[in-house]
Amino acid sequence: MAEQTPNRRPEPLQAVKGMNDILPPESARWEALEATVRDVMRRWGYQGVRTPIVEPTALFVRGLGEVTDIVEKEMYSFADKLNGDALTLRPEGTAGVVRAVTEHSLLHDGGKRLFYIGPMFRHERPQKGRYRQFHQVGVETLGWAGPDVDAEVILLSRALWKALGLVEGRDVRLELNSLGQPEERAAHRAALIAHFEAHADVLDGEATRRLHSNPLRLLDSKHPAMQPVIEAAPKLSDYLGAASLAHLQAVRDVLDAAGLPYRLNPRLVRGMDYYNLTVFEWVTDRLGAQGTVCGGGRYDGLIAQLGGKPAPAVGWGLGIERLLLLLQEVDVPAPANAPEVYAIVLSSQAMPQVMPVLAALREAGVSVLMHAGGGSMKSQFKRADASGARHALIFGDDELARGEVACKDLRDAQAPQRSLALAAVADWAHSLRTA
Ligand code: ATP
Ligand code: MG
Repeated sequence: MAEQTPNRRPEPLQAVKGMNDILPPESARWEALEATVRDVMRRWGYQGVRTPIVEPTALFVRGLGEVTDIVEKEMYSFADKLNGDALTLRPEGTAGVVRAVTEHSLLHDGGKRLFYIGPMFRHERPQKGRYRQFHQVGVETLGWAGPDVDAEVILLSRALWKALGLVEGRDVRLELNSLGQPEERAAHRAALIAHFEAHADVLDGEATRRLHSNPLRLLDSKHPAMQPVIEAAPKLSDYLGAASLAHLQAVRDVLDAAGLPYRLNPRLVRGMDYYNLTVFEWVTDRLGAQGTVCGGGRYDGLIAQLGGKPAPAVGWGLGIERLLLLLQEVDVPAPANAPEVYAIVLSSQAMPQVMPVLAALREAGVSVLMHAGGGSMKSQFKRADASGARHALIFGDDELARGEVACKDLRDAQAPQRSLALAAVADWAHSLRTA
């Protein structure tokens, strides 16, 4: 280890590229968003789950599919130092929830409605709305084959937009598709491969490589020369059987009745292999290339694929960073973050008498910022103003000797300063609540 020169400070370290600190005042937006999420989830009957951030690598390889962007190039994987186990920082939430549900037989007494909030990790090129550590809210509804719960999770996401102050149609729009069942996809897949093989000359390297492993992803290609061939490619919708079509129609019927407009997008395929039947995305025009705020769908095969007792499921995940960018973009005001009361304390000897008064205010639900570090009346008032507090309580020695505290309305210069009895601050606090 290099020896440290006594008077030299070491170079400060920086956060890992693409991983962000969430600091005040921005953190208040996060907390408000999370509180809104929890409230909406409670009202819709969804229960929280917290699964580990580190999972066996095999969970994602088996769950998401080997030929997906995430598994091929975006995972943070490493070997456990002690026993060599292959581990991965979770890139998404569904696989971990499915593992937990299976491991703890959570479906033994019927279906479950679950949600989570937490960090995910993907080794992508960082840019606005795309980070290496980002955060998702996700819901997973396990044990029901739908289409009722398909519609429910979509309407739940819509309720969340509303609760957050987003305007559906203007700020976010719903896109919907059906991926059908595995047999239907297999037939379509064979037709796709035949179609692209017949146009092998226009395929780029990536497309050629994926042609046989994951031809569906070719439809996502942005390569200009491939666009006409993509346009002419066989459509999955032509391969859907009666049951799949009926499932989609039943979802649409509920959305229509709920007055939720959507665009049927036959090109919507999603990045993980586990989806079937219903898939959807909420997109926005206001975030440039990172336009997908929320995406999800049905994944009836995943639980069995990960070794659990077969059970159908549907869910979605949304990116919190993108959602917050969108809220700012459309000028949804930030939550109020100022304390209600700033306590000015003029002598340190007063502290033993002041602290219980502040505790009583806080107990009554009032947010109180106590001036720390002493200083003159003038400097403390400056701080009080800067804090954005509505009221200053001035604990001067003379007032305290009389069992009182002075109270000043910082937002109304005309309002006279008045005295409150220390014993009555809780009543005053109550009057703040009901004013
Ligand atoms: P994209 O097409 O933008 O890469 P995705 O299809 O990979 O998105 P999902 O895996 O469906 O995204 O994740 C759900 C949501 O999580 C996305 O709609 C997005 O809001 C958010 N998200 C995904 N990757 C990132 C990232 N690297 N940084 C920030 N948010 C992300
Ligand atoms: Mg992605």
